[in-house]
Amino acid sequence: MIFEALRKRFEIARLHTAHMRSASTTKRRQSTLFRELVEHARAHVPMWKEPQALSLEKSSTADATFEIARLPVTSSYTYAKRPAEEYVDGSTQVSVRWRKVVRNGVELHFLPSVRRFDRTYDDLVRLRFLLWRELGTDLSAIKTVQVNDSFLNSSSANLRIATPDYVLHPDAMLTEIRQFRPDAIEADAAVISDLAEMSSHRGAPLRISYAVQNTVSTDLARTRIREQLGAELYSCYELPEFGVIAMECAQHDGLHVYSDLFIIEVLDEHGTSVREGEEGRIVITDLMNRAMPFIRYDTGDRAVLLSQKCRCGIEWPRLRLAPDASS
Ligand SMILES: [Zn+2]
Repeated sequence: MIFEALRKRFEIARLHTAHMRSASTTKRRQSTLFRELVEHARAHVPMWKEPQALSLEKSSTADATFEIARLPVTSSYTYAKRPAEEYVDGSTQVSVRWRKVVRNGVELHFLPSVRRFDRTYDDLVRLRFLLWRELGTDLSAIKTVQVNDSFLNSSSANLRIATPDYVLHPDAMLTEIRQFRPDAIEADAAVISDLAEMSSHRGAPLRISYAVQNTVSTDLARTRIREQLGAELYSCYELPEFGVIAMECAQHDGLHVYSDLFIIEVLDEHGTSVREGEEGRIVITDLMNRAMPFIRYDTGDRAVLLSQKCRCGIEWPRLRLAPDASS
C-alpha cells in the first residue's frame, strides 16, 4: 500500500519535470525506452518475433529515429488481420480490459497501456498543460507546479463531458455544471461551443477557467469561448489507442508531442519522413504500452511536425494537425 502510494508520487514527479528536458536529453531517453520496448516485444509478443518484423541491431546512436526507420510501418490492418494472441504480450496476466476502435475502416481490438486506468495519472497527463504555463527551472516555477498539483489531484476540478450524455439532456447538464463549478471541462468542440452559447443566454453565465477539446481550435473559436465562458480554449490530440498524445501550450501554436510517452513520426506515402514543414501521415510509437506494443502505428491522421523550439520554452516537437485529424 505504502509502496503503491510512493510509486504514484514518483510517477507524478516524473511527469512534472519531463517537459523541462532539453531536446537532446529527450531523444536519449526515447532511445532507451524504444530499445526496451523492442526487446520486450521481441521476447513476449509472437507477431514481433518474426525475423522480418524487427531487424533492429544493437547501436550506440543516441537518436532512436535512425533505428526506428528500419522497422516496418504498421496500421490497424496489421493487427486486425491476426488473432489477438499474436499481437499482445502473452507472458503476463494483464488486468486491463479490451477496447475496440475503428481505425482507417478496420475494426481493431486492442489493449491500452495499464497506466490509462490509473485515474491520478490519467488526470495529470490530461491537464499537464497547466504545469507548462509557468515554465522555468527556478524554484518559483516549481512552487507553481505544486499549487497546480492540488488542482490536478482533485478529480472534481476536472469535468469530462461525454457527447451522448450532453446531446440527450443539455439543459440538465448545464444545471449540473453550474452547481459543480468545475475549473476545467473537456468535451467535443461542438459541445463546448453549444454550452457556451446556451449559458450566455440562460441565467447567470457559466464561468470556467479552461476548456479542452480533441479538435484543432481556431483563433475565432478561442476568442468566442473566452467571451462566452471566460475560458481559455486548449486543443489536444487524443486517440482511444493511446489517450492524449499531444497538447497545446499557452502559445497555441501547434500541439507539443508528449515526448516522454511517444515517438511521433510524420511520413509520406512511401513511409519516408517528410521534410521539415511538410504535411504527412502521423505514425506513433507508444513507449509505455507493454501489453500490446504499438510500434510505428499509422493513425491515418495528417499533420506537420515542427521541431524548432517553441516560444514557451518547451523543446518537445509540435504537431500542426490537418483540420480533419482526430475528428
Ligand atoms: Zn509551446
